[in-house]
Amino acid sequence: MDTLPDSVLEYLQGKVCDRLMPACLCVSASGQLLDWTGTVEAYALGALECGLPAQELLPMLVGLENIDQPLIFPLVNLAQGVTANLHILPRSEGGLHVLLLDASEEHDRQQAWQQKVHEVQLLNARLHKVLRQLNKTQAELEQKRLETEEASRLKSQFISSMSHEFRTPLTSIIGYAEMLQRGLLSEQQLGDASQAIASGAQHLMSLIDNVLDQACFAVGGGNLDIQAVDLSQLMTDIQTLFAPMAAKKQLQFSCNSRLPEHCWVKTDGLRLRQLLVNLCSNAIKYTETGSVSLSYSYTDGQFHCIVKDTGVGIAPEQQEAIFSAFHRVPEQSNQVGAGLGLAITREILELMGGGLSLNSKPGAGSEFLLSLPVEAVRMPAEQDAEPAAAQEQRELTLLVAEDNPDSAQLLELFLVEAGHKVLLAGTGQEAIDILARQAVDIVLMDMHMPVMNGDEAVQILRARGFTRPILALSASTLGQDRQRALDAGCDNYLLKPIAMDELLSKVDEVAFSVR
Ligand code: ADP
Repeated sequence: MDTLPDSVLEYLQGKVCDRLMPACLCVSASGQLLDWTGTVEAYALGALECGLPAQELLPMLVGLENIDQPLIFPLVNLAQGVTANLHILPRSEGGLHVLLLDASEEHDRQQAWQQKVHEVQLLNARLHKVLRQLNKTQAELEQKRLETEEASRLKSQFISSMSHEFRTPLTSIIGYAEMLQRGLLSEQQLGDASQAIASGAQHLMSLIDNVLDQACFAVGGGNLDIQAVDLSQLMTDIQTLFAPMAAKKQLQFSCNSRLPEHCWVKTDGLRLRQLLVNLCSNAIKYTETGSVSLSYSYTDGQFHCIVKDTGVGIAPEQQEAIFSAFHRVPEQSNQVGAGLGLAITREILELMGGGLSLNSKPGAGSEFLLSLPVEAVRMPAEQDAEPAAAQEQRELTLLVAEDNPDSAQLLELFLVEAGHKVLLAGTGQEAIDILARQAVDIVLMDMHMPVMNGDEAVQILRARGFTRPILALSASTLGQDRQRALDAGCDNYLLKPIAMDELLSKVDEVAFSVR
């Protein structure tokens, strides 16, 4: 069979015509519509008329009057949303045949395909976003894992160094105390023992302060007690404290002061002292040969201080990390320390509105530069100094309300030694009962006692008209506890452990004041 049978051809023709709805326009060489046939009404060409310019019906015919090859324009959008494939064929007599074939189905298919492509692109974009987010989360998790690992390493290091730091002084304190109890020490050894016990206890005290400060700053706490402070005196105290320590290590210790003899400013003197002690003790601790120097000045409301040493120095990659709590440079971990001093120093300085920067070169030494805004004030009036000094010798009667018998005994010892008379109470209620019977000059009131707390007892005493000075005794460094004691009616707040000199000077300070 050379060709398809007629019946088949006829069937196919029918099918194709049904689907494609062919229409044909015959256009002259001069571009006029000559004739048309097929389903022209399907293509929204408007009213057809012989002689009509074909370009008015189909603008794409412009310039195509003399083509010699068939041209195909696929998916041409006609009026009323009709889409057609246009086949333009040259006519043997000149002019064109324009064959229009319905492409709505193809157009819809293509539209649907486009839609799918867009959807896939959208999904792809979302997938990329999710992947990016996943990568970011993964990186964050990894960072957190590293931080947790580092925190856990620092914690272990902290526990082991704390254990060492606490046990070492405790060993000598307990050891010497035992020998004292058994009376095994000679006169000379007694001096050494008391020296060892005092310096061990001092070391423990500063450790406890550092750990508590760190815990306090870690929960956003930390408070300042701003008072008039003589900067010159404070700096002289620092020199007096560190010159012997430097001398013990055969280090040169020098001070370059640009302060007048007295320089009164408003600041938290204890905090300022604490951070200077941290910087100076580090300078001496991490320097084996050479010198440690302290330079300071006060200009335009700013206190500047440089603590410089010729010690081991700090590698650039460690210079920020050393300000993190518990971080210690591994090569220097043979030195005693808990890695808290600089972290606390920076926290305190931030609290005070100051700043701390560091210049250091490994092997050449370090330089810590501290700056602190402090307001200058007039020297406080000295009118109280005279009467207090004049009456210093008078014997006072003091009531010590303290539930811990050892602490009570120690306070009694200090006060009796200074020539005063002491009454003891074990609770707040007992203190109230004694004061109802007997007059005293000053009350020392522990804030934490069984039966009735110190602040409650003070409130009752003040409500009953007790006007003599009351000094609060407390081991709490929290500002709110201090405030509670003052609000209850105390005149001053003494932090335990209380040194004998401090106790006696506070007693002298308030001895003759009346509410
Ligand atoms: P600590 O001295 O108890 O370890 P710090 O927080 O005071 O804690 O100091 C952190 C670390 O910074 C120290 O362990 C030490 O490695 C380093 N460092 C501090 N000061 C100096 C200094 N002046 N010279 C060299 N290294 C120092």
